[in-house]
Amino acid sequence: MSESNRPQLDVIVVGAGFAGLYLLHKFREMGLSARAFEAGDDVGGTWYWNRYPGARCDIESIDYSFSFDPELEQEWQWSEKYATQPEILRYAQHVADRFDLRRDISFATRVEQAVWDEAGSCWNVTTSQGETVSGRFFIMATGCLSQPKDIDIEGIENFTGAIYRTHSWPHEGVDFSGKTVGIIGTGSSGIQSIPLIAGQADHTTVFQRTANYSIPAGNGPIAPEKLAVKQRYQDYREEARWTSVGVPGKQAMDFALTVSEEERQQRYQELWDKGAIPHLGSEFADLLLDEKANDTLAEFVRGKIRSVIEDSEVADILTPTEFPICTKRACLDTHYYQTFNKPNVDIVDIKRNPIVSITATGIATKEQNFDFDAIVFATGFDAMTGALLAIDIRGREGQSLKDKWAHGPLNYLGLTVSGFPNFFMITGPGSPSVLSNMILSIEQHVEWIADCLEHMSKAGLDVIDATETAESGWVEYGTATSDMTLFPQAKSWYMGANVPGKPRVCLPYVGGVAAYRRVCNDVAAQDYLGFRFDGPDGSRCNDGLVRRQQPDVVALLEMLADLELPPFESLSPDEARAMSVAMNAGNPPGPQVGAVVDGSFPGADGALDYRLYRPDSPGPHPVTVYFHGGGWVLGDHTSDDAFCRDLCVNADSVIISANYRHAPEARFPAAVDDGFAAVQWVSDNIETLGGMRGALAVCGWSAGGNIAAVVCQLARDAGGPEIKGQVLITPVVDAGDDSPSMTDNAEGFVLTKALMDWFWDHYADPSKRADPKASPLLAPDLSGLPPALVITGEFDPLRDQGKAYAEALDAAGTGARHINYPGQIHTSFTAVGAIPTANGSRQDIAAALRQYFKALEPV
Ligand code: FAD
Ligand code: NAP
Repeated sequence: MSESNRPQLDVIVVGAGFAGLYLLHKFREMGLSARAFEAGDDVGGTWYWNRYPGARCDIESIDYSFSFDPELEQEWQWSEKYATQPEILRYAQHVADRFDLRRDISFATRVEQAVWDEAGSCWNVTTSQGETVSGRFFIMATGCLSQPKDIDIEGIENFTGAIYRTHSWPHEGVDFSGKTVGIIGTGSSGIQSIPLIAGQADHTTVFQRTANYSIPAGNGPIAPEKLAVKQRYQDYREEARWTSVGVPGKQAMDFALTVSEEERQQRYQELWDKGAIPHLGSEFADLLLDEKANDTLAEFVRGKIRSVIEDSEVADILTPTEFPICTKRACLDTHYYQTFNKPNVDIVDIKRNPIVSITATGIATKEQNFDFDAIVFATGFDAMTGALLAIDIRGREGQSLKDKWAHGPLNYLGLTVSGFPNFFMITGPGSPSVLSNMILSIEQHVEWIADCLEHMSKAGLDVIDATETAESGWVEYGTATSDMTLFPQAKSWYMGANVPGKPRVCLPYVGGVAAYRRVCNDVAAQDYLGFRFDGPDGSRCNDGLVRRQQPDVVALLEMLADLELPPFESLSPDEARAMSVAMNAGNPPGPQVGAVVDGSFPGADGALDYRLYRPDSPGPHPVTVYFHGGGWVLGDHTSDDAFCRDLCVNADSVIISANYRHAPEARFPAAVDDGFAAVQWVSDNIETLGGMRGALAVCGWSAGGNIAAVVCQLARDAGGPEIKGQVLITPVVDAGDDSPSMTDNAEGFVLTKALMDWFWDHYADPSKRADPKASPLLAPDLSGLPPALVITGEFDPLRDQGKAYAEALDAAGTGARHINYPGQIHTSFTAVGAIPTANGSRQDIAAALRQYFKALEPV
């Protein structure tokens, strides 16, 4: 490139909030030329604009601050647990001055358009000052909550009093003394400002559309133990980077519904007393996954709200019921609910009594006209995409970002957009962003981009662009992640639901900052997987998907990796059993069933235990005999308890989980002989057990799937009992399997090839493994067997043998179906509550059983 057509700058940054400031500092350190454009008159972004009374951070200041410079970290002293807006603005100004950043910022300048110049490999950026600047890279530090939502209430232009918006509060402040004030909006901004405005005004009326969950901040001096963190600040920050929200704290592994009511209440009270929101939704692992679990916390908070408000009608209005707690950002307040006990403060429930319009003198609702001197709008933002789309951004072939995002913000990693080369977003849609401590997330993005630019510079590359494959894979992964949570249930700005006409997609990535950081690191480590680079020496691209398993499977695998457990196959059977029991101990409990009965039955060589699960519906019911997994070595009739409950409820069938003798104490064919004995005994006693005569099916997982399959063959050969159907979940059906799934998934997905070998070694001599009672796929005749459903997962070593068995059964006229679930592993299907993305498979299993029993239901 000649000097004359070289872009003027290496990097153009839009915005001078915390993101813009750190970007400028970073690029200057790297020796790059960078300039930022900022619409406001000074630095600070959010904290420059939002000057309403009561504005504070809701992440403790010790956490909500930069970590990139240890000296800065030590020299700045926060005065309170949650600093006020003026103090945070002073901090941003201090950062700008300390690192001499203002000289590279053009204030009072709005970026209006940016066009990618393919020939020059640069962006041409036009500002409100009429200037056009070219830069190799174009980075959006425009903020997720910087574009206020348009006021969507009629008549605002008629109002003759004063109008204030929390987002752009007058710098000189507002004195509400002696005034009658109306406030619309009860999100974080409303909840922070209402107590202060009401404390000053003569009379205040709050117009609430949706009641919110708010927790008392307990603000004050920083607690000594929190302040002590500064003595080990760098370690503390590193800890924060590997949490889900970017603030150190307990990462719950247990479930709200498994602990006692007493423990739940005690833990919620402790959370409440802390006055902090980052860990509210993660006190238990199921709070954001399971409505019933979520409701235990929601009800606790509702109880607290009701206990504060004196008037029960007002309490009813202010008590949130419309969405699961933490699916909208929870609020932190100081005397918010108490404010409504004041005689000069009213609340109007505008769901019941809607606002019709703003009038010349106030607000007209369906039932009443209110006169005000001033109206305050705390009505929120066009979040995450608003500020980006306010700029006319045109990528390759003139495509506008607005068109590209017509159905939602397509992105790769929340950092880039395919077709928009050398364009980066800080905390963009598709990254954890607003669900995290934002300064920590800003730092992670800035540092990732800086590393990427460094990588390009070293490799002599000029242009980076995400591939469409990587982009659509990431968007799909993000959607799968949010779909398994309760987030989509709320009409929140996270979901784009606050802005009329905005596409309804979950804007942030909800998997947490640690999981996300791993993703970003993995992308970089795999030669920037999913990015295409161009340079003078040509193009290069390592295309692909960064996460191929379902998000909950990824989380499980990461958690197991963190635990650094020894491989099962390195242990003795008893040690392996103890570890398996310990791993099962904290599992979610599964749904309630009508009754659970323990008993024993005559196995092939003595009594064995069973556990019976009876549906809540009136009987008699069909009966399914279930065989647990565990490679014939581990587990017992109670180890798949949650799955049996789930199956019982969904299939409306009695489930009898029958134990069998385990290897190596009882080797082949003990387990299958016991399985057959169980089915014979259940068949003989079906009515006594509450079952319908003749309505008998079998189901089994893994080694239990092997037993279920073999039992069907034994029953056919013995002339009974009659089995109406078999559901085989990732069954072991061929000891000699060396198919691609066995080699491709040999390691890393819980059931490994080494572990499978260990199971076989304990269970059966090599000479006996080809016996159809060990390897039912090898049976010479598969005709005359009950219809089958075979379930497998994409990343299961046993996937191909399951598929082969289904195909062989079908070829023999048995009527078999095979469903392979993308992104799932061997242990997904029975992990009720822990792997929600496998819920569909569990519905399919239940539907198959219902189908087998359909013709048999009593009329
Ligand atoms: P911003 O601070 O929003 O800065 C973006 C800047 O870009 C703005 O100054 C804007 O004027 C400028 N800009 C936008 N478009 C253009 C354009 N086209 N041309 C020129 N300039 C442009 N997060 C937390 O983690 N903890 C909290 O406690 C917290 N409290 C918050 C309180 C409030 C009231 C709000 C609104 C948000 C809060 N947030 C909080 C989120 C907060 O936005 C981030 O923490 C952080 O300040 C964002 O920094 P930023 O630099 O990315 O964006
Ligand atoms: P918000 O959470 O979106 O709240 C907007 C409020 O206005 C809601 O109560 C909404 O009702 C109401 N509203 C919107 N349009 C309305 C209309 N046409 N008629 C009546 N009511 C209307 O916005 P925010 O309070 O500004 O907060 C946005 C985000 O900024 C927060 O979630 C948080 O992330 C951040 N923030 C943080 C703090 C902090 O504590 N540090 C403070 C402020 C903001 P519905 O709920 O029914 O839509």
